Amino acid sequence: MPGSYLIKPVLDGSYKEISHGNGIYLYDSEGKAYIDGSSGAVTCSIGHGCKEVIEAMNEQAGKISFVYRSQFTNQPAEELADKLAAMAPEDLNWSFFVNSGSEAVETAVKIALQYWQEKGQGRKTHIISRWMSYHGITIGALSLSGHTERRRRFFSHLESSPAVSPPYCYRCPYQLSHPSCGLKCAEELQTAVDRTGKEHVAAFIAEPVIGAAGGAISPPEGYYQRIKEICNENAILFIADEVMTGAGRTGKAFAMEHWQTVPDISILGKGLSAGYSPIASVIVSDDILCTIKKGSNLIMSGHTYSANPQSAAAALAVLKVIEKENLIQHAEKIGILLMKKLQNLKEEFSMIGDVRGKGLLLGIEFVANSEISAKPFPKDYNITSLITRLAQDLGLLLYPSSAGIDGREGDAVLLAPPLNITEVEVNKLVSILHQTLKKAEEMLTV
Ligand code: PLP
Repeated sequence: MPGSYLIKPVLDGSYKEISHGNGIYLYDSEGKAYIDGSSGAVTCSIGHGCKEVIEAMNEQAGKISFVYRSQFTNQPAEELADKLAAMAPEDLNWSFFVNSGSEAVETAVKIALQYWQEKGQGRKTHIISRWMSYHGITIGALSLSGHTERRRRFFSHLESSPAVSPPYCYRCPYQLSHPSCGLKCAEELQTAVDRTGKEHVAAFIAEPVIGAAGGAISPPEGYYQRIKEICNENAILFIADEVMTGAGRTGKAFAMEHWQTVPDISILGKGLSAGYSPIASVIVSDDILCTIKKGSNLIMSGHTYSANPQSAAAALAVLKVIEKENLIQHAEKIGILLMKKLQNLKEEFSMIGDVRGKGLLLGIEFVANSEISAKPFPKDYNITSLITRLAQDLGLLLYPSSAGIDGREGDAVLLAPPLNITEVEVNKLVSILHQTLKKAEEMLTV
């Protein structure tokens, strides 16, 4: 049997091969163009084929592509760490580089555990997370993830479970509305800490805007401010998983800025190198770094490819492009425009229950008939895959997400085009989305 790319056996014949990309467009080997409306998995934030990044990577490859992080440091990794310290708020000054979001989550958890050990509080070992969250695919990161579908198959190997509800106003777990709800979903953290015992809790982890598991759920004003207070009052580290939201995606360098909240650890991945080469970063505060330095003086983690010069050079070039082209401000502005257009679609299509998100991380949740209720479509309608397939046929790529609570996955897609999308391109994207919804509506009414 000939060798095969491992993913092939599970795919049907409709799986296309991409030959090249340019800006917001991808082209398959038959010449068909697609608008990359989700930047892949919310990753290619500066679009495809960026010359500055390609040149920086080529130049670095001509110097050195790999050095082992326990033997040497290297110039692009040092420069990248400096750049991230300058971008990050307050004293988030220290980067530890790994290769994926999942590895970064694992590393952040290990750093949190080590921090408490160095402080002589080694009983603080428990990490609290939320339902409807996604923190990665490795066993540790999946343990923290409240993405029920991705957990189920492996649940017997997972180490702990999420404990608190997401800030999901569209389907509030308490059937309340903000602000009269009193942010009960944030208060749940205190309950979870009380149940566990604060002497056992090391950290709380959350995605600022819930991506893969929630279709861009953005919490109400005051939510993260209250979460941070609870963390401070109980001596718990707050880990912001900005793998999807960071590096400008939501119209701020770090999404947590929307809630004027500074975590103790912030994690970047995906958009950090915009898909040009794998890299992720765990950024920790002065306090965490100093505590570890005073103690064992060694972060007990790392991978062979950690801080490799090739990926660091790619990420550095990406951040320079973002800065030079003012892409964070642009994402904020063009995100408002795209959101307005999605709201118009919501007026027109009763299958749209909610549109939400921040900057260029936007989501659409589908329901059977929004004029009657927020009841989801029956599961066997497979609405998310129907919409993403129809959109792809029409030349628009969307990211399949999920929504819904109590373990029943609902239907949602993410719209997260490259941050440098233009107004003309937004119009084109929305026009294809409109055609997609029309087609879906026709298919669902026959
Ligand atoms: N954290 C968040 C918020 C994510 O969205 C993802 C991936 O979607 C991860 C972690 C895992 O990142 P990776 O797929 O790079 O391991």
